[in-house]
Amino acid sequence: MPPRRPASPPDRAPAAAAAVGRFADVRGHERAITHLRRGFEAGRLAHAFVFTGPEGVGKLTVARLLAAGLHCDVAPFDACGGCGACRTIAAGTHPDVRIVAGPLDGKRDISIEQVRDLQRELGFRSLSQHPKVGIIDDAHLLTAQAQNALLKTLEEPSGDSVLVLVAVQQSALLPTILSRCQRVSFGPLPTADVVAILERRGRSATEARALAAYADGSPGVALGLDPELFDRRRRELLTALAGLRGADFKKLVDFAQTLAGEDKDPAAVLALVASWHRDLLRRAVLGADAELQNADLAAAIGTPDVGRSLRNLETTYDTMRALRRNANRNLALVRMLMRFE
Ligand SMILES: [Zn+2]
Repeated sequence: MPPRRPASPPDRAPAAAAAVGRFADVRGHERAITHLRRGFEAGRLAHAFVFTGPEGVGKLTVARLLAAGLHCDVAPFDACGGCGACRTIAAGTHPDVRIVAGPLDGKRDISIEQVRDLQRELGFRSLSQHPKVGIIDDAHLLTAQAQNALLKTLEEPSGDSVLVLVAVQQSALLPTILSRCQRVSFGPLPTADVVAILERRGRSATEARALAAYADGSPGVALGLDPELFDRRRRELLTALAGLRGADFKKLVDFAQTLAGEDKDPAAVLALVASWHRDLLRRAVLGADAELQNADLAAAIGTPDVGRSLRNLETTYDTMRALRRNANRNLALVRMLMRFE
């Protein structure tokens, strides 16, 4: 008989705070969920999964819903969202569901100690009739040592526990790990779904549309963008940028200073600038039917030129690279504006 678990483990990693909700509320991952549901209903759910896909698309949400679905007695597998099991899993305090929320504070990797703690937890007897669930978020950050330790659990699963590795890059995991896990892939979401999720999280419709356009199908990325910059200031900045052609040096320096002061992260401002030149390029190549990222600014585009737009886009990317190498921000931005045609 497995040992009884201690009353409160001292080293429980804090789970990312977010309501778990219900499977029915998840957008864009119907295929993955159907796959899991079929396994559950047939009584053939795998003991280990790797969920892979871009950052912030909902992999961890589905992993926690899987845990809730396995523990919810009100609506098995659906996860009712309201019962004790669903609520404690959402809060990260359910005794039979343990989430390793990436590396510990100040660390870059998930250590072998974190894996051993999880294995110890999974080895304790479940407090309910339901399987124990272990989830490792950012599993691509597991050290090789930690992955080797994990192999033991994958080779000899304890009882009917379920392990879910949530990873951005599958290639960071050892082939021996991958071959013992069922792989479920998650793609980027259609923009409309990202907008709907942002609205559910309290963003206004305009804000949600503006943010979603910059998130590459990832609600998690969109939620991390600054609405002040990407919604309210975007129009102003890009309209000013469009009006800069032929401007004198003083105007360019002033605008570079404005851009430099916009955000702690210069990459965010340059992402906006790049979106503008991409829109011009799309309009030049595809004509009036081109779908634009900054559709509300279409009137400011004028008659774009393919070569010029390409060169301007290249200049923007050069500047992004220079800033990543810690170039002086103001100088790099002035130089970029001077090179724009
Ligand atoms: Zn429930």
